[in-house]
Amino acid sequence: MDDIILISNLNDFIFCPVSIYFHGLYGGADVLTFQTKSQLNGTKAHESVDMGKYSTRKDIVTGLDVYSDKYRLVGRIDMYDSRKKMLVERKKHVSRIYDGYIFQLYGQYYSMIDMGYAVDSLRIHSIDDNKNYNIDLPENDKDMKNRFEQLISDMRAFDMDKFVQENSQKCANCIYEDACDRSASRGD
Ligand code: SF4
Repeated sequence: MDDIILISNLNDFIFCPVSIYFHGLYGGADVLTFQTKSQLNGTKAHESVDMGKYSTRKDIVTGLDVYSDKYRLVGRIDMYDSRKKMLVERKKHVSRIYDGYIFQLYGQYYSMIDMGYAVDSLRIHSIDDNKNYNIDLPENDKDMKNRFEQLISDMRAFDMDKFVQENSQKCANCIYEDACDRSASRGD
């Protein structure tokens, strides 16, 4: 797999590594362009610190492109409150906190830190029911931090040719099932 990892792919990889391929295929060329641009110029994300889009409140930054030098991750944050030093990811509806949500937030967190921002707290916000879920910083949750780092190494070591999806439940719920030749339910 390519060296730089898209933060949004952390969650997809947990669901199924093959889904990243389909996501890129059907998800639009902007993902590839975004990745290539960041690879060509590692300072790109740093530049956008100064060019971040601001909401009407000056202390709220939204949709900022971010890059982690340490983990070689690129992505985009949803919202950063510079007054509270809080990074927030809003989702339409959150029924439970999946590990993938947390790892995405970690990816954004480390990118913000690498870019010079101060981040003291992390939060996932469920829009439909207006609920907030506070997430510990990775430094305060060693187990999750280790799993985050393991996920990144697994992604870098991943070999698509050797992969077989054995969880047919995942394939049954996957939107790419019809097009996928790795589906565990192929031939049923
Ligand atoms: S159909 Fe199965 S193997 Fe293919 S992308 Fe979906 S979950 Fe993965």
